[in-house]
Amino acid sequence: MIDLRSDTVTRPTPAMRRAMADADVGDDVYGDDPSVNRLQTHAAERFGFERALFFPTGTQSNLAALMAHCERGDEYLVGQEAHTYKYEQGGAAVLGSIQPQPLENEADGSIAVARIAAAIKPDDVHFARSRLLALENTIGGRVLTRAYLDEATAFAHSRGLSTHLDGARLFNAIVKLKLDERAAAAGFDSVSLCLSKGLGAPAGTLLLGSAQIIDKARRWRKALGGGLRQAGILAAAGLYALENHVARLSVDHANAERLAEGLRALGLAAPPPQTNMVFVAIPQARAAALRAHLAALGSLASIGEKTRLVTHLDVSGADIETALRAFGDYFRRAN
Ligand SMILES: *Cc1c(COP(=O)(O)O)cnc(C)c1O
Repeated sequence: MIDLRSDTVTRPTPAMRRAMADADVGDDVYGDDPSVNRLQTHAAERFGFERALFFPTGTQSNLAALMAHCERGDEYLVGQEAHTYKYEQGGAAVLGSIQPQPLENEADGSIAVARIAAAIKPDDVHFARSRLLALENTIGGRVLTRAYLDEATAFAHSRGLSTHLDGARLFNAIVKLKLDERAAAAGFDSVSLCLSKGLGAPAGTLLLGSAQIIDKARRWRKALGGGLRQAGILAAAGLYALENHVARLSVDHANAERLAEGLRALGLAAPPPQTNMVFVAIPQARAAALRAHLAALGSLASIGEKTRLVTHLDVSGADIETALRAFGDYFRRAN
């Protein structure tokens, strides 16, 4: 199957599985797992943070970060389209007693600094305390510019807010803009990085931050049920991914470009992608039939209101051509 539903569907490669099988392990709740410790040290150094902390999932890492930055009754400013606001069941409010202040995202995925400025509450008993600005990069496959990130994070800090970056796919931005990791994380007090998206590990997310933020997040991780024992098995996959699967993200980006170009050649609206996500307009009346047609020819895709096709480690250039033939076959017959 050619699975274009998400970059979360990747399976560990044989070499990654060998690294996992060979991992030195210990009890990570005691801080004893050498592979987890190695991964955390590597990531903290690479991104220029004091500390890093391994989590089973990105949702848990983001939530622990929000809870480390904010107290009960604080609020965080966040985009309407952001994962931490829209796709995490409102965990910050439900479990953290943190009020989200959602703000409209611009077409490029940013939140206008003027909008951030207008949303910061004065110190007044009527209002939640504005504590944190949370951004996401990449957001819906779009890369936020370094100039924007500098401006937004400097502004937040000037108003006394902390900054968190949901960098689930930050490596896609790093590869796209040919950025150094430290430059990509600059301006943020914490960054969450997924190892299980384009990097291809079976699970795992790293939270980066100061010793103070990471200590707090580590306490919350335990309360949130995320204290793992011999997690080195997973950390070894993450280390392998960080060492071997970053540069190759450019292949996913090239495959996404080729996919969008091929879809446009079929008369579909598929703007050139910035990273590994292609968005294509499919007439709603055709969604179910197209999905079934693609599946019958060996391609899985989430065809719906907003069709998103994602390239990754387990999709080759030849797979893209196969998927394009399946799309073409459907639209030629349907027309
Ligand atoms: C995938 C993702 C997460 C975390 O998701 P998990 O499935 O919990 O690991 C967070 N933010 C963004 C933007 C994501 O794409």
